[in-house]
Amino acid sequence: MLTDLSKVRNIGISAHIDSGKTTLTERILYYTARIHAIHEVKGKDGVGAKMDSMELERERGITIQSAATFCQWPPDAKAQKTVMAVPGSPIKAQHHINIIDTPGHVDFTVEVERSLRVLDGAIMVLCGVAGVQSQSYTVDRQMRRYKVPRIAFVNKLDRTGANPFRVKEQLREKLKLNPVMIQCPIGLEEKLEGVVDLIEMNAYTFHGDNGEQIERGPIPTDAMHPLASHGHGGTLKELCEKMREEMLDGLSLVNDELAEAILEDKVTPELIRKCLRDSTVALKCTPVMCGSALGNKAVQLLLDGVCSYLPEPREVENIALDLDKNEEPVVLESNPDKPLVMLAFKLEDGRYGQLTYIRVYQGQIKKDDFVVNVRNGKKVKVGRLVRMHSDDKEEITEAGAGDICAIFGVDCNSGDTFTDGTVNFAMTSMFVASPVISVAIKAKDSGAEINMSKALNRFTKEDPTFKCWVDPESAETIIAGMGELHLDVYIERMKREYKAEVITSPPQVAYRECITKKVEFNYTHKKQTGGSGQYGRVAGYAEPFEGDFEFVDEIKGGAIPREFIPSCEKGFKSMIAKSPRLGVPVVSLRVAINDGQSHQVDSSDIAFQEAARGAFRDFFARANPKILEPIMKVSIEGPAEFSGNILGLIMQRRGIVMGSTEEDGNARVDSEVPLSEMFGFSTPLRSSTQGKAEFTMEFAKYAEVPNNIGEELLAKAAKAKQDARK
Ligand code: GDP
Repeated sequence: MLTDLSKVRNIGISAHIDSGKTTLTERILYYTARIHAIHEVKGKDGVGAKMDSMELERERGITIQSAATFCQWPPDAKAQKTVMAVPGSPIKAQHHINIIDTPGHVDFTVEVERSLRVLDGAIMVLCGVAGVQSQSYTVDRQMRRYKVPRIAFVNKLDRTGANPFRVKEQLREKLKLNPVMIQCPIGLEEKLEGVVDLIEMNAYTFHGDNGEQIERGPIPTDAMHPLASHGHGGTLKELCEKMREEMLDGLSLVNDELAEAILEDKVTPELIRKCLRDSTVALKCTPVMCGSALGNKAVQLLLDGVCSYLPEPREVENIALDLDKNEEPVVLESNPDKPLVMLAFKLEDGRYGQLTYIRVYQGQIKKDDFVVNVRNGKKVKVGRLVRMHSDDKEEITEAGAGDICAIFGVDCNSGDTFTDGTVNFAMTSMFVASPVISVAIKAKDSGAEINMSKALNRFTKEDPTFKCWVDPESAETIIAGMGELHLDVYIERMKREYKAEVITSPPQVAYRECITKKVEFNYTHKKQTGGSGQYGRVAGYAEPFEGDFEFVDEIKGGAIPREFIPSCEKGFKSMIAKSPRLGVPVVSLRVAINDGQSHQVDSSDIAFQEAARGAFRDFFARANPKILEPIMKVSIEGPAEFSGNILGLIMQRRGIVMGSTEEDGNARVDSEVPLSEMFGFSTPLRSSTQGKAEFTMEFAKYAEVPNNIGEELLAKAAKAKQDARK
């Protein structure tokens, strides 16, 4: 077990797509001797980077699913024939690093968020040319929400046009971070050789086939720096001296200890590292490191940085909810002697059953232990405990607080909490958005049907934003999620992983309805058919409400007998799933009953349910109902020459521009656009920007649809009803 938590790092790597996250992860695994060869992403050798374990990802060259893997840094002595530690490194003892690969695409935010919950720190990869891009904002928001300290890694400095200073300024201006550059590149673009560490003022260059040979030396004195024109002096040495001062100035603004040391002239490299670490963990600054993953430059120094500046598990506060005390928050302790609390954050279907990734927050877990799933109280045995390295696993016998590992054959959902049974804690509920889009699917044949249900079962367990159900009227299977791509990926996974070919219908937007004014009702349900009749009267009021639905019983004096109150509630509830006009969920509704009447013989459960349904139809029509539609936050980035076209695309789609910026010939437009207008958006975007713009989309809110569109929707629904009757 990992007993020295000061040597444990649980980190994530987040980035805008294509900034080099996969390549960087691959290099990290290589330099830590976890893998012995490097395969390029989308490589010609057809092997693909190790982290992309899914076939689909391999083909697309992007990482969709998060996977956890671990490595050790500096590498084992016996591995040091092929890879080496940084010469003169301050990192003397070996650190244990768990890497959670966080997917970059916005449609998969649940996975990103769940991963962020499990991390203690992160590397934020930025492209040295493109800098802060649309997804960097999303990732940044999420990191802020989960208070994740991070290091920024400015990658791709070997590319033409790379400029780490520009990226640093973007971190300050666009993301409002406090970036502190602690390295200066030696050379740039195709002449990139390595970096200068500004703390010790040493130059590091990288040699050998894969940059595994690291050479440390003094800063070359004569070399002119390609970025000298940036106003930082002429030679590399002068630039580094200037940058070192900027680093100390910047850090001392947020760190009093360093400010004092500067005044007393007592600055040492150890002190700088300590202060940098303290301020990073306290979220007061972001160290900026740089290099090139593909060019094999400076990744080892980044690993040193992870050990030096990112927090260990005990430095992060983790909160659980005590279910026995009305969900009172409890601070967990990364202490192996306390009762076990662990979170299942990721599931995978393996050949030997379900593989569940877990993070242990408190206590310890041993092979063959029994643990309790807090969600359903089920006691299960943990027969196998493994450390994951993408596809390969290593059996272990125990794992303690602060660690990340995986268990086998335990049936559970993603997001479930396990304990040793002595406490009833659940990890804080995750931020889960409700689906905004749905598609009806049908299996191509009976074989595919069985596989389809297997796949759906798995996906709903893994992803709380993915829902599926059978529509009782059409008997169709409906899947719902956070966007078109979200559903597309699952449909593709069904085909590839489960051999389930499905036919899909056009996607449907998840509309909702709500009432806009308070109305009273008084409805009598009366039916006389031969023998016993049905009788029930309900009266009260309905009004708009902040939550989804509330039923209030204000009956005094038994106007409706107690036993029929639940019947009334059931009657109203049965109506909110499908609104009378449009057949969509009714939200933000409070219904109160305060009067009514019953009949000794003819009143029954059914009679009062019917009365409530009748009352609902009556008041809903009078309460000025309006239709709500999902509005998406859409960010589009592309060359500035196309910004007019981009604005046009937004306008044509009932969009509202929330802000736009232009910089270095690049435009970024943030807008809010109704989801119903965004189907297939990539095609028009491509054709009006010569394929040079990209967009991201994320659910923002529900808003009222304009009258003319509302009328169209109602007319369509009415026609569909009519057609169904024929
Ligand atoms: P991800 O989408 O963030 O995982 O990015 P990838 O690792 O798949 O990289 C995207 C592309 O950028 C690939 O073609 C890589 O070969 C390339 N790439 C990654 N790192 C670098 C780098 O440091 N320099 C250059 N020039 N290209 C890089």
